[in-house]
Amino acid sequence: MNRRKFLYTTGQTAGFLLLGCMPARRGDTRPRFREDPFTAGIASGDPTADGIVLWTRIAPAGAPPIGRIAVDWEIAHDESFRRIARRGSVLAVPELGHSVHAEVNGLEPGRTYWYRFIAGGEASPIGRTRTATAGDVDAVRFAFVSCQHWEQGLYTVYEHILHEDVDLVVHLGDYIYENAPGANVVRSHDSPEIITLDDYRRRYALYKTDPALRAVHEAFPFVVSRDDHEVDNNYAGVHPAENAPPVDFLARRAAAYQAYYEFMPLRRTSLPQNGEQRIYRALDFGSLLRFQVLDGRQYRTDQPCGDGYQSDCAGAADPSATMLGAAQERWLIDELAHTRARWNVLANQVPFAPSARIREGTRQFDVDKWTGYLSQRGRVTEALAARRDANPVIITGDVHVSWVADVKRDYDDESAPAVATEFVGTSITSGGDGRAGGADNPLLRANPHMRFFDARRGYVRCAVSRDTFSADYRLVDYVSRPGAPVQTAARFIVENGRPGAQRDG
Ligand code: FE
Ligand code: CA
Repeated sequence: MNRRKFLYTTGQTAGFLLLGCMPARRGDTRPRFREDPFTAGIASGDPTADGIVLWTRIAPAGAPPIGRIAVDWEIAHDESFRRIARRGSVLAVPELGHSVHAEVNGLEPGRTYWYRFIAGGEASPIGRTRTATAGDVDAVRFAFVSCQHWEQGLYTVYEHILHEDVDLVVHLGDYIYENAPGANVVRSHDSPEIITLDDYRRRYALYKTDPALRAVHEAFPFVVSRDDHEVDNNYAGVHPAENAPPVDFLARRAAAYQAYYEFMPLRRTSLPQNGEQRIYRALDFGSLLRFQVLDGRQYRTDQPCGDGYQSDCAGAADPSATMLGAAQERWLIDELAHTRARWNVLANQVPFAPSARIREGTRQFDVDKWTGYLSQRGRVTEALAARRDANPVIITGDVHVSWVADVKRDYDDESAPAVATEFVGTSITSGGDGRAGGADNPLLRANPHMRFFDARRGYVRCAVSRDTFSADYRLVDYVSRPGAPVQTAARFIVENGRPGAQRDG
């Protein structure tokens, strides 16, 4: 246990307690906890060149806290907190599940910091984090992950990420899964399918009991996005999954979005309002790299022709069908038109380039993916093609396997040039133990723009320099029991000014 008793007097804290910009009232509580209040761990996220979000939740194992709790935070240049960079206090309120989102600024770019929280005389574990770089930097390193079904495996992948030298971790969605306990699982969900705010809170709290998940949050800032399972499998905008429980879906979605805010290191700009939550956003790492973080679920029109693989689905070409919604599409196209970063990484949820399969001689496409929204995909592709000089790279999760694809205007023309590159990363656990290899996978034959396939679990380690973007597929052979070693199954690079991935080992 790295939790320590910590004697802390209120007289040392700053004069203002902040919840948003609201000053605290007299009578706010600084209770003494009998149990560790930091059972959900700590996290940091959304780094800027001068700031970071520090996150925790006041959740003692016994009875939940009552009323408002004052939580002090501090961030230091050193692990022993001798040189404090910033400190402050925020209120954890019951309306937000006693979550804490401290938005720190005034830090230095590209620096490692250590942080902790103090509440009720108890100190949290110490976290390490890092601000974004600024100016003309030479390198940014990050890992990206997705899909961490609790029941389908252990978080061995996170144990390996702990040993990586990366500046941040990008999570592309399916941080939790909503389903009731399943059969033949590695470990069980502890409640039926989640519907209410309390259900979602309890599900996140369960996932947060995993020591590897907590440790990876303590070690790196996260940039998170969200796919379907944080709410409901394959939902689209206001439309639930086909066989979802008969409940008011917008109320369910609002509960899910609120719990997501409560458990993620997001900024106040992502505080849900009237059941909506803005999470699409951009983050800069100097002149080298800009992330465009997408939200492909909240504003979607319903999948055409039902979910899953379809052939001959006219609705996929419907000009009014949208994955991003009109406002987010305008934002993204404007981002691509005006970005000055050397590399532009679209943190995307579901595959952008097609992954056709052939059944009885006909090609079928998965309409839950961008292939169900061809009109918008075409407009985004044109925006990518117009800014080939801005080196667009799409990173994607969702499908629980790895692949690499050229993004093209015309996938039926094998000689058409790539206009961007897509790296699809596999799951942390979802799908359970995978299979190695895949060079003979039928997907590769049916999709000449795809150049790698593997069905194991893992993560993608990316290193970005002025000249190259490299992506290492770091994979493990099993997650059903502990201790799987990690290996680099493949490395691809994209050269500056030359869209499309090249295999490099
Ligand atoms: Fe998933
Ligand atoms: Ca998904």
